[in-house]
Amino acid sequence: MNKIESFELDHNQVIAPYVRKAKVMSVNPEFPECVVSKFDVRFAQPNQEFIPSEALHTLEHLLATFTRNYTDDLIDISPMGCRTGFYFVFCNNQEVSWVAELIRKALREVLQFTGYIPGATRKECGNYLEHDLASAKLWAKKFLDVPNDDIINIYR
Ligand SMILES: [Zn+2]
Repeated sequence: MNKIESFELDHNQVIAPYVRKAKVMSVNPEFPECVVSKFDVRFAQPNQEFIPSEALHTLEHLLATFTRNYTDDLIDISPMGCRTGFYFVFCNNQEVSWVAELIRKALREVLQFTGYIPGATRKECGNYLEHDLASAKLWAKKFLDVPNDDIINIYR
């Protein structure tokens, strides 16, 4: 069986919230300079708490929208199945501090946000009624309360 990088991480040792560079991967062996980078953006302490589905879903929509206000390099953001955070995948080998600052900017927009959640109509979304903006804001605040220097240190 293949070894999965994130299964090697000791989830008992990390301190959430945090941003971690998980992997840099070449896209094509003929062009080794052409890479993508993957990050764990953990909001909830593993095996102690998890983000409710509604808040996770709303954060997914808002982060996917607001992060792209600051970069064209975001390929995808997806919720972790354990509901403790998100995976972010970017073009190029991004710095973890840059990613942390990017998430911070997007989360500040989450806190300010009022109105209709982007992409959350029946036509655009696979579970359009399952959203909770108020709860999403609480998780955004929890992340923003940790300084940038600490957020990139997963064992602090
Ligand atoms: Zn959706």
